[in-house]
Amino acid sequence: MNSALARQRLELLPSVASACRLCPRECGVNRLKGEIGFCGAGQEAEIFLEYVHWGEDADITPAQTMYLTGCNLSCVFCQTAEESQCLPSVRLTPEMFKNILVQGRRSGAEFVNILGGEPTVNMPALLELFARSGDFSGLVWNTNFYGSARAFQLLDGLVDVFMGDLKFGDPACAKTLSGAEDAGETARARALEIYGRTPDRLIARHLVLPGHFDCCTRPTLEWIARNLPGVRVSLKTVYLPPRSLPQDCEEKRFLSPEEAATARRLAEKLCLNLTRDADLSSEQTCKERPDSARPPVLVEAAIAPDGRVYMRHIVREAAQLLSRLESAHE
Ligand code: SF4
Repeated sequence: MNSALARQRLELLPSVASACRLCPRECGVNRLKGEIGFCGAGQEAEIFLEYVHWGEDADITPAQTMYLTGCNLSCVFCQTAEESQCLPSVRLTPEMFKNILVQGRRSGAEFVNILGGEPTVNMPALLELFARSGDFSGLVWNTNFYGSARAFQLLDGLVDVFMGDLKFGDPACAKTLSGAEDAGETARARALEIYGRTPDRLIARHLVLPGHFDCCTRPTLEWIARNLPGVRVSLKTVYLPPRSLPQDCEEKRFLSPEEAATARRLAEKLCLNLTRDADLSSEQTCKERPDSARPPVLVEAAIAPDGRVYMRHIVREAAQLLSRLESAHE
């Protein structure tokens, strides 16, 4: 991330944020004067969780991960929505941002993974932080891809990896599950544009949802194979149902092993360039010593009906534990 370039992009920001068109909601509020639209993001970024993540895709691990408040989708299966409401958030000042970067590097992080909520709705604050942080490498924009073309153009050259969601194959599912009928279509448009500019900076992520193979997983994977040849694909088959969902909801259950295997078989048949999971037992993970100055992180674990263990917030110690549990399960 080049700070001088971020300063240039800040000058262009009013064209898309003074009457906000950062995403298809097009609220029209003046984000540069602190007005707030659908996403709830303010003029400054609010952070509610940060730690070094050791269990993301190998291509972006270990990553200093920062969770910001504010999102423009209302996904029923979102895990972080609950957390963002329960955990206290604080204003992410330039000093705090720099400190987190330094601490992250000291703890072994090679990437800076910004997510939310949604980073794109926080662009006014993030560009300001980037402009004042000094250069750093390995910036990951971990996005739902529900942003405008103009917003993503402003990120061109600043971001090293766009980890973008291609979740929905059917507008009806997008509407029911995320509250935005055009979420799938918008995400595909952004993926195509980034692929056209910098294909090596794109990772297309697809979360396999229970009961959504024919409507979402199959069409999405086939679309990727046709339109983004060779792109890295992160196929997520570790779906953890949120506690807040009602029991009778399809998305309340874990993905069955058969559903996960069917999705993987299709990806292989289409010759998709699948990313690898991080090696949880890697030498580096084991060698790094805990940093007592960092705040504690609540790691959530769940056991699926078939005995598989799922974890959220895989800090170093959780990665080591998960590695041992996986070995025992095998
Ligand atoms: S980023 Fe937020 S304020 Fe701007 S258009 Fe989207 S939802 Fe509205």
